[in-house]
Amino acid sequence: MIRVDHLGMTYPGGVRALAPTNLEFHAGEFTVLLGPSGAGKSTLLRCLNLLIAPSSGTITSATLGELKGRRTIRRHRRSTAMVFQQHQLISRYTALDNVLMGRIGYQGVWRSLLPLPVRDKVFALACLERVGLIERALERVDRMSGGEQQRVGIARALAQKPKVVLADEPVASLDPATAQHVLSLLHRICKDENIAAIVSLHQVHFAKTFADRVIGLAQGRVVFDGPPGVLARTALERIYATKEGTVTQHDVEEARGAGLPLPQFLPLQTLS
Ligand code: ADP
Repeated sequence: MIRVDHLGMTYPGGVRALAPTNLEFHAGEFTVLLGPSGAGKSTLLRCLNLLIAPSSGTITSATLGELKGRRTIRRHRRSTAMVFQQHQLISRYTALDNVLMGRIGYQGVWRSLLPLPVRDKVFALACLERVGLIERALERVDRMSGGEQQRVGIARALAQKPKVVLADEPVASLDPATAQHVLSLLHRICKDENIAAIVSLHQVHFAKTFADRVIGLAQGRVVFDGPPGVLARTALERIYATKEGTVTQHDVEEARGAGLPLPQFLPLQTLS
């Protein structure tokens, strides 16, 4: 379990990306964050990993208590894996070496300068097997397709033996069929390992397929929190409501994907 109380983020320069928010995430729960660009999805994910320091509020983990102090934060990061849109792999390295990076957090500073133990390699190979890439273990990742690279990214996350996976638009740069495949893989692994997954997505239909819970964000606020079954048109309108004059092409595509014609966008201030 990971809980945030009054978690808020205002970036230097004054952009309030996240209004003070209370949320709880549970083991084995697959949560999808939905919302237009700029809604605060990445900010929430980065705060949960303390990649950025929130400007207000606290984060509490069931095992570590309130996350403060270097040691606690390091232990939290070790058990919290990230999957990124652009994979963040080291392109010249093999799939195996990239996955082994997921084990580094378990080594002390001195130990990490030495070759990793055989048991770490065996575990990394097992992670690659889980994502169907064992036979490509020694191939450089820059010779792989986008979908394969993201599967290496998932294997690297898994190598961390995480309790929580934070995925920031993990399938945004993939074609629809590959995106479906990669997401179902991520979903199955998180379910099998009882991992709390928090995944930001643009595609409402994927949220409906995979999420146990959808959190809708609009302009840094949670405007929906519930199972995808009750994610009705009104909720989608809330999530995708955009300030007049700031509707982007991207928003239009999202609205179309959600089955919302553009005229149904509501100015945020009309929402209760
Ligand atoms: P999303 O992931 O939903 O697209 P973000 O969390 O990236 O949204 O951004 C939320 C808001 O915070 C946006 O207005 C964005 O421009 C702003 N923002 C994000 N990162 C920074 C930053 N490093 N410095 C200043 N403003 C930022």
